[in-house]
Amino acid sequence: KVRVRFAPSPTGPLHLGGVRTALYDYLFAKNQGGEFVLRIEDTDTARYVEGAEDYIMEALEWCGIIPDESPKHGGKFAPYRQSERREIYDKHLAEILKTDYAYLAFDTPEELDAIRKEYEENGEVFAYNYITRNRLKNSLTLSKDEVERLLAENVPYVVRFKMPIDRILNLEDIIRGKSSVNTNTLDDKVLVKNDGMPTYHFANIIDDHEMKITHVIRGEEWLPSLGLHYLLYEAMGWERPQFAHLSLILKPEGKGKLSKRDGDKFGFPVFPLNFRDPQTGVVSKGYREEGYLPEAFINMVALLGWSPANDREILSLEEMTKEFDLHKVHKAGARFSKEKAEWFNHEYLKLTSDQEALVLFKKVEDINLSHLDDDQLLKIISLMKERATFIKDIYTDGKFFFEAPSSYDEKAVKKAWNEQTSSLMNDFAEALHGTEIFEAENLRHIIHDFAETRGLGMGKVMMPLRLALVGELKGPDVPDILQVLGKEESVGRIKNAVN
Ligand code: GLU
Repeated sequence: KVRVRFAPSPTGPLHLGGVRTALYDYLFAKNQGGEFVLRIEDTDTARYVEGAEDYIMEALEWCGIIPDESPKHGGKFAPYRQSERREIYDKHLAEILKTDYAYLAFDTPEELDAIRKEYEENGEVFAYNYITRNRLKNSLTLSKDEVERLLAENVPYVVRFKMPIDRILNLEDIIRGKSSVNTNTLDDKVLVKNDGMPTYHFANIIDDHEMKITHVIRGEEWLPSLGLHYLLYEAMGWERPQFAHLSLILKPEGKGKLSKRDGDKFGFPVFPLNFRDPQTGVVSKGYREEGYLPEAFINMVALLGWSPANDREILSLEEMTKEFDLHKVHKAGARFSKEKAEWFNHEYLKLTSDQEALVLFKKVEDINLSHLDDDQLLKIISLMKERATFIKDIYTDGKFFFEAPSSYDEKAVKKAWNEQTSSLMNDFAEALHGTEIFEAENLRHIIHDFAETRGLGMGKVMMPLRLALVGELKGPDVPDILQVLGKEESVGRIKNAVN
């Protein structure tokens, strides 16, 4: 059975790239009838950020990416937080220490820093590897007695991976195909730190094995670690999962990795939800708070690096699940576009029913709708929704529905109002006042008849009328505006304009 995990580290809020990884993990697992697991990789206590784990779970939930197993949902391989799995790692550490793939290293950070400096002065870069390990303080160079003595004295040590010498590793990636690497280019990574906690590499392969993960789908920043991971599986005598590394999400200009700074510069969020940095108090903006619909957001994210058949663009999570194919994920980086993100939201807003939109509209902050009933609001929504990118646009673009104009656009006045207009509008206000059926179709007839009896074109009445109601020459059809505003408000606005 296919089992896929998303394994974020709680070092900050989930960004767009992380959401996409989680989404592809989920889509692939579900497409294959498999399971999707959320595992929190929190062994790096120094980089732990308060609140990040909750943020990740809440963000996935908002996106509709619900794990089958997670710290919150539990599951047969619990716990799903690495910090709670120490016993499991200890057991496997004992195993790998029995092999020739690991050794203890007693070098202090100061000693390593000194060597690093030395190398730098010679214009070289130090690596703890198959050459240098023979000159350093570790269980490969020290005598057995010496190692025993250091251990007995509780001298701190780390466990390192002993990279085999001069082996060609043939690696396979579902998206990128085959590649190879010579082990001499790889260093002896730390597997267990001096506090006994495993590093990412060791904990990650242990958990993937223990949790019966069949496919590892993750960001391309982990590609350089793939050789090491292959060897770790070999060292442990375990069958390894299949791997797929996702390319970067690129800046809107197309070059380089998308960063938070690009978002600030071009005015779009790179996080799904607002995130308040617990240290600085600074809030990073999220798609949710910016007014994106979660369905639009994940649809946009899914298409950053994958194209469904027939270049379809609008797909629900369910449809994406049906169509998703890892082999069709692009090798090249996908460029982020703010305009495209907005386009998706616009499309999804059009797809929501007026009733659903009403629920969303009532949640928009800082607007007061109390003087309007649901029928009026629904009418406004149906008139404005087609053109809105965000639900709040219905309010900003349709301000005149909610408030009488406080001033009139100068250019519009020049265009729509002359000496005769005031008396014409006065008469029209009278006509409106006597109207029984205040409904768009009927109002259209009234305007028509009114214009006709005066030998005027419809526009000669419509334009000043629009100006009086809206304050400028924009908005939906005038009869529709009249109907929503109602008789009293409409007449009042016209009288205001006349005076
Ligand atoms: N904890 C790693 C991260 O935060 C997971 C990488 C992986 O999926 O193997 O990216």
